[in-house]
Amino acid sequence: MSGIVVVGAGQAGASLVARLRALGHDGRITLIGAEPLPPYQRPPLSKAYLKGEMALERLFLRPQAFYADNDIDLRLGRAVTALEPVSRSITLDGERIGYDQLVLATGAVPRRLPPAAGGDLPGVHVLRDVADADALAPELAAGRRMLVVGGGYIGLEVAAVAATIGMQVTLVEAAPRILQRVAAPETADYFRDLHHSRGVRILEGAALARLYGDGRLEGAELSDGTRIDADCAVVGVGVAPATTLAEAAGIPVENGIATDAYGRTGVAGIWAAGDCASFPWQGGRIRLESVQNAIDHAETVAANLLGADTPYEPLPWFWSDQYDVKLQIAGLNTGHDRVTTRQTDGARSHWYHRNGRLIAVDAMNDARAFMIAKRLLAEGRPADPAAIADPGFDLRALMRG
Ligand code: NAP
Repeated sequence: MSGIVVVGAGQAGASLVARLRALGHDGRITLIGAEPLPPYQRPPLSKAYLKGEMALERLFLRPQAFYADNDIDLRLGRAVTALEPVSRSITLDGERIGYDQLVLATGAVPRRLPPAAGGDLPGVHVLRDVADADALAPELAAGRRMLVVGGGYIGLEVAAVAATIGMQVTLVEAAPRILQRVAAPETADYFRDLHHSRGVRILEGAALARLYGDGRLEGAELSDGTRIDADCAVVGVGVAPATTLAEAAGIPVENGIATDAYGRTGVAGIWAAGDCASFPWQGGRIRLESVQNAIDHAETVAANLLGADTPYEPLPWFWSDQYDVKLQIAGLNTGHDRVTTRQTDGARSHWYHRNGRLIAVDAMNDARAFMIAKRLLAEGRPADPAAIADPGFDLRALMRG
């Protein structure tokens, strides 16, 4: 027997193998990771780890002994180069390994700017893994000039770290506003103001023409000719699902490796979970990029590998730390037609409705609103906008309604 083989030792892969053992599976498990490190958490890479405030070992999701203690064959620093569904085998640096069931938890890879636009100049960084963070960290020093390309989570979190240590930061966002993909204008306004108050220059609707420099980054030129001097740059322009292996093996891909509600791909014996996978959602198909999704999707697939037959029903949530503000998002705001603002002392939240139904909440330094929103969304309970907007209204009443 060849057992279960998991390709990808990120949050999803690690969660999946741990859950298999927790559910009592005693068959063979192999977990393969391309990076040399045991599975680790990525969120601190753009926060505490980047600032040098967190040791490498503290990133590890489990102590290294966990894998041996649980009889999980952890192969690190090994790249899977081929997948053959007919013979149920993969090739690992020339070695062939058979599987009974295979899970692709290959994650996502950062998009880069093309070399022709200066994307590979020394001094230009992306931030996805520990090696990226280790390469970026030495660039951070008070007084230096940082260009941030992209006003998503990576861009804003890195801008916050850089501004806090006294760098001169300019952020360019191609879309009309920052956080366009993930949050409403109200939330974007809040974070724009926050970054402005810390001295970050934000240029929105700014098309980057190229990065330039003689042997090393010296600056950026926008399509209107504006030049921005920079000593280093961080490119946070999104990620692409890692589907190369799946595509080469003929597995259907549709904004990620296409799975059914149970995590099965279109090819027998092959499953997918986490950032790399898309799954059915509200009559369409969605792919989520979050820690919550990596864990919950992987744990559902683990149960289904053992015959549970449980459809994956995500309850999405996200968080981001910028300066002293913790943003917590519950739900997905896609298609919202109403936003209600709630402001109480230092806490603020934006509540999104679609056709009268609560669909998402952004909470800024408001853990209570976030927790209550998560429960309301999970239970499908209503949230009256007039009540929410009243700072004197106790949100807990919504859970009893
Ligand atoms: P992202 O959230 O997709 O944001 C990328 C941003 O860059 C988008 O606003 C995008 O605009 C913009 N952009 C794209 N091309 C550009 C260009 N040429 N010039 C300027 N702006 C451009 O992705 P990310 O911030 O790179 O993060 C990568 C992944 O890590 C995501 O999955 C993210 O969720 C995750 N992450 C999460 C957290 C967190 O949850 N706290 C923290 C860090 C990273 P368009 O939308 O118009 O393309």
